[in-house]
Amino acid sequence: MNEKELLLQAIAGSNADYTEIRIDHEARNQVQFQKDKLENLESSSELGGIVRCLKEGGWGIAVLNDISQLRQKIQEAERMASLVGQHSSEAAALAEVPVVQQTVHAEFERDFRDVSLKEKKELIASYNRILLSHDKRVVSTSARYTDSFREVTLATSEGTFIVQQVPDITLLLVAVASAGKTNIEQGFETLGSAAGFEFVLGREEQATNAAKRAVDLLSARSVDGGKYTVILDPGLAGVFIHEAFGHGCEADFLFKNERMAKIMTLGKRFGNNELNVIDDGYLPGLRGNIPYDDEGVARAKTYLIKNGILTSLLHSRETAKKMGAIPTGNARAISYEYEPIVRMTNTYIDAGACSFDEMLAGIDKGIYAIKAYGGQTMFEQFTFSAAYAYEIVNGELGEMLKDVVLTGNVFETLRDIDMIGDDKELYGGSGGCGKGGQFPLPVTDGSPHVRITNVTIGGK
Ligand SMILES: [Zn+2]
Repeated sequence: MNEKELLLQAIAGSNADYTEIRIDHEARNQVQFQKDKLENLESSSELGGIVRCLKEGGWGIAVLNDISQLRQKIQEAERMASLVGQHSSEAAALAEVPVVQQTVHAEFERDFRDVSLKEKKELIASYNRILLSHDKRVVSTSARYTDSFREVTLATSEGTFIVQQVPDITLLLVAVASAGKTNIEQGFETLGSAAGFEFVLGREEQATNAAKRAVDLLSARSVDGGKYTVILDPGLAGVFIHEAFGHGCEADFLFKNERMAKIMTLGKRFGNNELNVIDDGYLPGLRGNIPYDDEGVARAKTYLIKNGILTSLLHSRETAKKMGAIPTGNARAISYEYEPIVRMTNTYIDAGACSFDEMLAGIDKGIYAIKAYGGQTMFEQFTFSAAYAYEIVNGELGEMLKDVVLTGNVFETLRDIDMIGDDKELYGGSGGCGKGGQFPLPVTDGSPHVRITNVTIGGK
């Protein structure tokens, strides 16, 4: 019997109201240099699966490492589902979706599975040498490459059967520069894509930029704290829209947070007419791509904000049923060990009509903040550190600044966006999104340049 026949037979033997099997084959490689040492060289593969059963309104889940355990795991999940169903006050149910039978192949130029670990190592070593040799003040580096190829099979008792190939490739280049014990700065480039090996070739310029930025920051001035009109670059604006706003649109989060649920009311105005925020499950080459989510729901282009108005949330089949909405294809799991939860895909602020120069023109004293270097959100409050920044004086860019920390209330900040650029860019990055213990999930975020008034900037 082949794998498909095994899965279909196992599902046919289930007595649950709904049964779903997801099998995940993953092959991974990692190369990492730290300073002048090869820190990690790793090649691994894994096969596993997860069974979910819905019975009497309760969910049961069982994880397996061997397909021969399938029948037994379905029984386990079924028993658990009945128990949960009998004891919970609220019955879980799934919104109706079309049955899909589909195979989705990976799209890339050069399959990274055909590239030797030796070639990968030599490429990353060459980037690491660029980082290290740029300037004698560069005291440490990190150059990390990862690739992952997943083949995910989803079979459900409704008749859906989907096989999807998911490629993912990332590159992280970091330089640390020092001029004395108290003056230590970092420059980095972080890249990720659903692409082949071609994506990481020819990145010498990025390595140079990372090292140069670390060194330049040594002599940059610390920003003076205060309220400023700020221009965010596409990278920082993308992180802002994902972290500060996007997570609040995930419907499962709102069930656990009454205060946010009250704020996130569809039809409410969140910004000016030019503000559009989108989560799109498929744009060629992007890390957040999922043609079908982990419940077999086709990807969608979902307007979270359209012309300034909150128009949709992000849903799994279960949250959609609960809220009377249409599933948006956002149920995702990082691996076979986890059940799908509501996650973003490729999330961005859509392009507006302003040029960068038009944005600069009206600013007497402001800040141009570039790239996110960490950040956190607590309900409506966010704090982001820019990787670096420039002052804006009388409509022109001035000195380089460091220690630029932006804080504020996400909803006030969205309302204070007064100009949206025509230069949208999307970034995969080398990290990923974390939620409910599931990290790192490949996502992409982006934006054009955006101008925001009244931003509180904390300096050192
Ligand atoms: Zn996230």
